[in-house]
Amino acid sequence: DPVDLVAVLRGVVDALEPLARDLGVTIELQLPDAPVIVKGDRDELVQVFQNLVENACKYGQSGKRVVVTLASSASREVITVSVRDFGPGIAAEHLPRLTERFYRADVSQSRNQRGTGLGLAIVKHIVNRHKARLRIESTTGEGASFNVEFPAPALISNPVEEKNDKT
Ligand code: ATP
Ligand code: MG
Repeated sequence: DPVDLVAVLRGVVDALEPLARDLGVTIELQLPDAPVIVKGDRDELVQVFQNLVENACKYGQSGKRVVVTLASSASREVITVSVRDFGPGIAAEHLPRLTERFYRADVSQSRNQRGTGLGLAIVKHIVNRHKARLRIESTTGEGASFNVEFPAPALISNPVEEKNDKT
C-alpha cells in the first residue's frame, strides 16, 4: 500500500513529544512540503520511526536536539529518513551488534534508561521487509544517526521528466 512518510513522521513526533519534554530534548522535524510516498505497511513504518525517535530521545543528550529529516536524493532514487541525536553516541565495537535481539550498549546504563533491547531488532526486520536499508553512523561524543533508505518506487520518479530527457 502507498504510505506517506511525511504524515507518518508527523504522527510519530507528535506522539513522542511528551517523552521528549520529560527528557529535556527538542525534536526538530525537517520535512519536504509535498507528500513522499513509499510502498509498505503504515503501522509497521510507524513502529520503525517510533523506535528510532524514542531511542534518540532516551540515549541522546538532555538540552540538545533530536533531528528527524526526510529527504530524497537529487536523482530521486533513494528516499532517506534520518534520525539524529547529539548524545554520547555508540562506540564502534557495539555498532555491528546493535540490531541483535536483547543487545544493549553501556550508554543505556549511563543515562539510566530502561529497555529490553528489542527495538532495533524489530526495526531491522521491518526495514528489510520493505526492501529498505538501515545505516547507523556514530562518532563517540558527537551523537548517532540512524538512517532508513528506501528505494523510490518507479511510479513516483517523475515520468514527465524522463519523457523530456528522450526528446
Ligand atoms: P527497547 O527499544 O526494546 O525498549 P532498547 O532501547 O534498549 O530497548 P534497542 O532500541 O534495540 O533497545 O537499542 C539497543 C541499544 O542500542 C540500546 O540499549 C542502546 O544501548 C543503543 N542505542 C540505541 N539507540 C541509540 C542512540 N541513539 N544513541 C546511543 N545508543 C543507542
Ligand atoms: Mg529502543
